[in-house]
Amino acid sequence: MSSMRSIVRYAYAPFMMLGLTGAAYWVMISGHSYFWLIPLLLIGFATAFAAEKIAPFYPEWNDHDAHGDTSANFWHTVIYELSALNGVLLIPVIQWLFPFQGIWPAHWPFWGQVLLAFLIADFAFMTVHYLSHRLPLLWRLHAVHHGVGRLYGFNGVIRHPIHQSMDMIIAQAPLVIMGMTQDVAIMLGFLITITLIVQHSNVDQELGPLDGHLSIGRAHHLHHVNWGTEGDCNFGLLFAFWDKLFGTFQAKPPRPITYQDMGVDELPNFPKSFIEQMLLPFYYVPGKGEPERVTEKGQNTRSRLLQEFGPRLLDATSSIAASGLHG
Ligand SMILES: [Zn+2]
Repeated sequence: MSSMRSIVRYAYAPFMMLGLTGAAYWVMISGHSYFWLIPLLLIGFATAFAAEKIAPFYPEWNDHDAHGDTSANFWHTVIYELSALNGVLLIPVIQWLFPFQGIWPAHWPFWGQVLLAFLIADFAFMTVHYLSHRLPLLWRLHAVHHGVGRLYGFNGVIRHPIHQSMDMIIAQAPLVIMGMTQDVAIMLGFLITITLIVQHSNVDQELGPLDGHLSIGRAHHLHHVNWGTEGDCNFGLLFAFWDKLFGTFQAKPPRPITYQDMGVDELPNFPKSFIEQMLLPFYYVPGKGEPERVTEKGQNTRSRLLQEFGPRLLDATSSIAASGLHG
């Protein structure tokens, strides 16, 4: 088991970042259907979960029942991928509106165009991310990503859809206006999702010489700590050089991080339900403490009301429906 653990620790990131994206790249340049990317993405999630079992960073983060957020995270994944797809489908419309596409180096090899798009997107994401930790209005939305008390394969795609759309518009619209093709955008989207999985998965990754140069693994744990503003560093998506340039990179935590240190200190009872997480930014006021609605008491009251009145409401609805049928 320990040799298996060692293999996973070393092979996980290369398999995901080079193997899977390499396969996706081959699908794109060979002219195969885009739909082949879906099984590749599923392999990515399955690999993350298998690797988390074999070589977990913190075994406690693998206890899905104890965290009770699997269902919400599943819906986050579906909504995230659907809105990313939506963004890609909108590309021809945006390019029709902005028929100014002379800048994009369409004559470059495909891999060069994907790399350029990724570097620009990484910088834009990093900037939006930095601002999302600085501006209270953006933090309300971004807190949905930080609220979960653990990191694992699904976490990367837990975003509020408004924040995700904002990210997409700021990071990708300039590329699209410059003339980035739909193929590059699809490859970029795939690469971003795989990066998000690797960045957040609970795998004790060994990055070798790249340790300290990437925003994944331990460096990203520090970004997610619930220690007030101490996690306001390491904003990058994959590369650490943008953070180093802005002076926001921190390779090592000031003290050891435990499995209980993830989340938002102001929101110890971060809601587990997808709907409640969607509503959170509209009533959470940063700096004012935990809102009444998400305190343990608030959540218990709501679930009690639901338990008491839910069946009665269903009865009433079905009897109205039945009387409608008979009438
Ligand atoms: Zn963040």
